[in-house]
Amino acid sequence: MDPYKSLGVNKDASEVEIKKAYRKLALKYHPDKGGTKEDENKFKEVTEAYEVLGDKQKRAQYDQFGSVGGAGGGGFGGFDFSGFQNVNVDFGGGFGDIFDSFFGGGARKAQKNRGPLRGNDIEIVVHLTFEEAVFGATKEVEISRYEKCEHCKGMGNEPGSKIVDCTTCHGTGQHIKIQRTPLGQIQTAATCDNCHGAGKIPEKKCRECHGEYRTLKNQKIKIKIPAGINDKAAIRLSGKGEAGVRGGEAGDLFAHISVSGSKEFEREGNDIKTTQSIHLLQAVLGDEITVKTIHGDVTLKMPAGTESGKVFKLKGDGVQKVGTTQKGEHFVKIMIEMPGKLTKKERELYEELVKEAKLNIKPQSKGIFG
Ligand SMILES: [Zn+2]
Ligand SMILES: [Zn+2]
Repeated sequence: MDPYKSLGVNKDASEVEIKKAYRKLALKYHPDKGGTKEDENKFKEVTEAYEVLGDKQKRAQYDQFGSVGGAGGGGFGGFDFSGFQNVNVDFGGGFGDIFDSFFGGGARKAQKNRGPLRGNDIEIVVHLTFEEAVFGATKEVEISRYEKCEHCKGMGNEPGSKIVDCTTCHGTGQHIKIQRTPLGQIQTAATCDNCHGAGKIPEKKCRECHGEYRTLKNQKIKIKIPAGINDKAAIRLSGKGEAGVRGGEAGDLFAHISVSGSKEFEREGNDIKTTQSIHLLQAVLGDEITVKTIHGDVTLKMPAGTESGKVFKLKGDGVQKVGTTQKGEHFVKIMIEMPGKLTKKERELYEELVKEAKLNIKPQSKGIFG
């Protein structure tokens, strides 16, 4: 089967066109309309097609290989039809709700709930000063996370008691709800409330976690911040997220880095930028000036005749690149400051210079325009 043919769209159809086509066909063949067996099959086919074309990744896979991987036979080259609960279409109005319950995550969730479940990831923000980001630091943060219950070792049962089939769902992990709607009855598979879909329950629940496998704990953890880390970077601590359930692995902890600015230094990647004001005469005659870098003071030999706005590069005086010994540069921009109020003697000397330079200028007193 070709999902494009099933939905009656072109190979280059847009997401919107695909959604539209599916919506139209799904409404037409929806089983709740009491159609024939053929209609029902058609409904399955278009839903299956949408499951492929409505998912960017699966669509790309289909376009490339002509099939979509997955367990189970038939369908679009081995695509597992049981996955169709995942379809999520906004039908607008009341119909959407019916579809939601029809496709409802219930049954699928129930299946998932039976095996080991990976713990959730935890995302936190770690605030760093400018210096901490540049030179690295160890930050202690307090997080609240679900950890494996120590009392039952994450099994949910009181040690010594058995784990038995759930009495509510008889081990299936789900129960069937019949819902009456204007379009007829809808049968929904929902996760069993008693066993949360596991199908098994402890004969006697663990008295610490009450059968939830995990307990919420506040934990202080230390995060090592490497020198040179950038604002908005993230550090992933594998397995430091929430504990898994029924033997599932723990989630990860993501520390998102937020770095404060500095009054003295501007950072761009691994480079540092500063601006330095110098006297007009320093610019004219040149000088050895002291530039403050993140690693300390550096002497810069500034040649005579340095223009305002000139940028000097101090090689390797920038920020260390994370995980290496390489460093960025320090760029210092020179700004010439005009001398303030001149003494009588200074003014005479400047006028002397004007004569020497044979400049035809008409000196004014200071500040009449300012
Ligand atoms: Zn427990
Ligand atoms: Zn149950």
